[in-house]
Amino acid sequence: MTMGRTKTHDYDTVVAGAGPAGIMAAIEASSRGTVLLVDASKLPRNKSCGGMLNEYAQSFLADYAEVPDRLVLDPSHVHFRYVDWDRNIKKPTELRFLNVDRCLFDDWLVSLLPDNVEVSGSTAVKDLTQDENGVRVELKNGGQPYQVSCRNLIGADGARSGVRRALGIKNVSTYVTLQDFCELKGDIEPFFDCIYMRGIGDSYAYSYVVPKGETAIVGSVYYPHTKRPSDKQNQTLSLLREQMPQLGDSVRREASVALYVRSASDVVPGVGRVLLAGEAGGFMSPTSGEGISYAMNTGVLAGQAVAGSDPADSVAAYRRISAHVGSNISRKLKWLPFMESRVGKYFAGFVPTPIVSKVTKGL
Ligand SMILES: Cc1cc2nc3c(=O)[nH]c(=O)nc-3n(C[C@H](O)[C@H](O)[C@H](O)COP(=O)(O)OP(=O)(O)OC[C@H]3O[C@@H](n4cnc5c(N)ncnc54)[C@H](O)[C@@H]3O)c2cc1C
Repeated sequence: MTMGRTKTHDYDTVVAGAGPAGIMAAIEASSRGTVLLVDASKLPRNKSCGGMLNEYAQSFLADYAEVPDRLVLDPSHVHFRYVDWDRNIKKPTELRFLNVDRCLFDDWLVSLLPDNVEVSGSTAVKDLTQDENGVRVELKNGGQPYQVSCRNLIGADGARSGVRRALGIKNVSTYVTLQDFCELKGDIEPFFDCIYMRGIGDSYAYSYVVPKGETAIVGSVYYPHTKRPSDKQNQTLSLLREQMPQLGDSVRREASVALYVRSASDVVPGVGRVLLAGEAGGFMSPTSGEGISYAMNTGVLAGQAVAGSDPADSVAAYRRISAHVGSNISRKLKWLPFMESRVGKYFAGFVPTPIVSKVTKGL
């Protein structure tokens, strides 16, 4: 508790979800008092992800700590490259990413938490109630559910946020994602390739290939409700191997989901005393699929709103200070129908490389 204040709640802030949004929120909120950070998964968790940190993510981190070398994979930096597979057109851009091991990265973020943040893995938020005095959060860690109370709850529990649903807000629909970790039988070019192929069918959005030390991630993104995505991923892999024989056997396949943000109304900063950060709030790039910088950014802002305002006013404060992130998403949404159309995907191959580079940076 804050010095000199009567204890009326178990914690000043409870944060649901120990991803980049929740961890950054917990760091910032800890300047107001005690924080409980819970995650439904056992920690350290493994989030299916390309582990590509864009320049915004890197600059947020620079305010907190330097990313240790042990998290960084070979090659340490890769440039984003647009690839029209069928016409063999490659457009390298100026976008430069730091290539990290996502599981080690998240675990390292946890190590940045100050002492007044209590961390509890394998602990899920099951339900919540709130009134003008605070929030009661129902938690479950194996056995019987139990309750804790707090002044504010920050829901940073990802794409399928239970906190968001408990507030009566529908979850954003989701892409189906599959990632194979393929052994490398030879070097591949040091790029983060975003690949469009026409042979997979209409449920296919795009694939990406990036070298990760001894392996390469081959990820694919399929539109919501795709049937038998695993078959489609096998088909995608065999097409890719025709031109990239260095892609050996897959040593691991992960299935996950990514937000399919389609409307500005998908972005919801919170209700009452409950704030939503990262994917739980609908914060993610609808055009590039990048979410780590959005998660860190909104996590920081949610934590600052909680730390700097009266608990009853923190959602309003957060709404104000995160408005530019919502505007950024709305701006990107305007490009989407064109980018997702067959014409758009075809047209991109004809755009001069410096323009692809400039436009991609803005996305
Ligand atoms: C295949 C794939 C590849 C991607 N690649 C990239 C990339 O290269 N670069 C990039 O910038 N972005 C990438 N993204 C997006 C990025 O991973 C996410 O946007 C980012 O992790 C969102 O962070 P977050 O903190 O909001 O949520 P998450 O990282 O999803 O964390 C949410 C946490 O909440 C926990 N949780 C869930 N329910 C509960 C509950 N009820 N109670 C408590 N805890 C709960 C979960 O266990 C999880 O640990 C990728 C996404 C996918 C699916």
